[in-house]
Amino acid sequence: MSIEIQGINKFFDKFQALHDINLTIPDGQLTALLGPSGSGKTTLLRIIAGLETPESGRIRFSGRDVTDLHVRDRRVGFVFQHYALFRHMTVAENVAFGLNVLPRKERPGKPEIRKRVKDLLEMVQLEHLAGRYPAQLSGGQKQRIALARAMAMRPEILLLDEPFGALDAKVRKDLRRWLRSLHDELHFTSVFVTHDQEEALELSDQVVVMSNGRIEQVDTPLELYGRPDSRFVFEFLGQVNVLSGKIRDGVMSQGDAWIRLPEGCENDDAQLYLRPHEVRLTQSASDQAHLPFSIEAINLIGAEVRIELKPDGWECDELWEVGISHTEFNARQPQRGDRCFTVPDVGHLFCEHSPEPKTLEWR
Ligand code: ATP
Repeated sequence: MSIEIQGINKFFDKFQALHDINLTIPDGQLTALLGPSGSGKTTLLRIIAGLETPESGRIRFSGRDVTDLHVRDRRVGFVFQHYALFRHMTVAENVAFGLNVLPRKERPGKPEIRKRVKDLLEMVQLEHLAGRYPAQLSGGQKQRIALARAMAMRPEILLLDEPFGALDAKVRKDLRRWLRSLHDELHFTSVFVTHDQEEALELSDQVVVMSNGRIEQVDTPLELYGRPDSRFVFEFLGQVNVLSGKIRDGVMSQGDAWIRLPEGCENDDAQLYLRPHEVRLTQSASDQAHLPFSIEAINLIGAEVRIELKPDGWECDELWEVGISHTEFNARQPQRGDRCFTVPDVGHLFCEHSPEPKTLEWR
């Protein structure tokens, strides 16, 4: 079931929490609402659910207008950050709860409810815990039960608000993968709220980046990461290295730093944004770029070695960061304080007088 959101505005007293939101959430896909705290993600999710009423705009589920439909009649499932399981009920009773309280004529028979609960517990791989109480479960297990409970009503739309927010990093990662594979199997339409970029990029088919009650960009994770439309999206989606400078006759410079730009870059004040994997660490400058640094810190933990660089003879607000393989690190043995250079392969140029960013390649 697709979700069409059209012209949604939401106020809390005089404060406008959402500004003219227009968005289509495709059928059967996992969509992330991603943004900093207070950007309006939860408010939008609650409006889709019917828990909050917008001042203007319409919500449609596969073309059917549900704006004035009560939450109970929208047939959506919810999972919240805090699992909200009933403490005095066993796992099986929790999963069956929604079915047991249905009006008599809609309620499946007892054997059917038992079968559905068994199937759902199998799906979340927790059949063996059916008789336990929530207090006897880990956080990750509770969250899987909360998901089974939401799925018991066979919703066509599942809404998740920071579903893994309260869990530690390892459990979070496992649950993410598990939700992804469950989704691939069952193909329901899901919308989940997160402020974790990695989670959004890893889990979803489509990411909606929000800021200050507005949508900044809607794209696949790959497009979003590779071609951000704005500085905000660029900065929000991970580490970024920035060179601010002036472009004159095809060369961008600031202090001792300069870089020759590919053809077609007008004279202007500009900022060049580069992801850590888009620059190489070198021992000398190239014909194309003179970007001098000293090594500020070396972090050996992880799949690659992260090296933090302090500009030497020029300025930037935050340290630059590059990654090199452990093999390269062992061969070169760079030390803190060493002078070095970076050479960009790809960069993204934001000019003061042109609205569109430009992707540049030097390879
Ligand atoms: P977080 O990641 O911190 O949960 P969010 O992006 O989900 O943030 P919302 O919870 O949607 O943000 O809130 C958006 C804005 O609306 C915030 O400034 C918040 O203070 C305000 N807001 C949300 N709910 C209410 C309310 N019931 N009354 C007044 N203001 C509210």
